[in-house]
Amino acid sequence: MTTDLVRDLIERATGRIVEHAEELTALDRAIGDGDHGINMQRGFEALRDEVDRLAALDLAAALQQAGMILVKTVGGASGPLYGSLLMGMGKAAKEGAGPAAQLAEGVAMVARRGKADRGCKTMLDVLIPVQECLSEAADAPLPELLRRLRETADAALEATRDMVATRGRASFLGERSRGHLDPGAASSRLLVHAVCDVLEKRS
Ligand code: ADP
Ligand code: MG
Repeated sequence: MTTDLVRDLIERATGRIVEHAEELTALDRAIGDGDHGINMQRGFEALRDEVDRLAALDLAAALQQAGMILVKTVGGASGPLYGSLLMGMGKAAKEGAGPAAQLAEGVAMVARRGKADRGCKTMLDVLIPVQECLSEAADAPLPELLRRLRETADAALEATRDMVATRGRASFLGERSRGHLDPGAASSRLLVHAVCDVLEKRS
């Protein structure tokens, strides 16, 4: 069961990232250095290359190892941050935490590592509202939970358009970063959708 879950998550997340890599890179070209899609594609393809090994592990170990692979392969600012997300989730899973508490620990690790919070126009502007939504709605029927998670991620990404970046490369632009979606928030939204797709298909 768990092994299939890990495999499905890796396949779907990689698919979504590869499908939208050009879009992520275009967003990063507007307010960064134009490599976010390339970085994410490289990292997720590396995960997919190791899918057999990762799928043989329990969820906690798979998350921790996947996080280390992303740190090594994504590069840029986002590699260590997505690595922290998965390693934090893996650590919580190992301690017996459920999905909502796993995500909370992962997001807290991203915030510590990035010295960032909500409103800095980063991936955290999607990850934090999604994590809060999961904590609030964890007991809702699955279709409602998935709808709320997807809607929260979509609205949270859109909300980054109006923000001024205060972390990462986009912060060098100051006011000129306003009017553009944040690339890391866009990749986080894609990953939320990928997880929802997998949970929907398995339900
Ligand atoms: P780089 O900026 O090094 O080229 P990427 O382009 O891969 O790295 O990733 C950029 C994304 O990383 C940004 O859009 C933002 O969402 C995220 N990011 C950058 N710095 C931080 C930070 N300090 N905290 C959280 N997220 C960050
Ligand atoms: Mg970049």
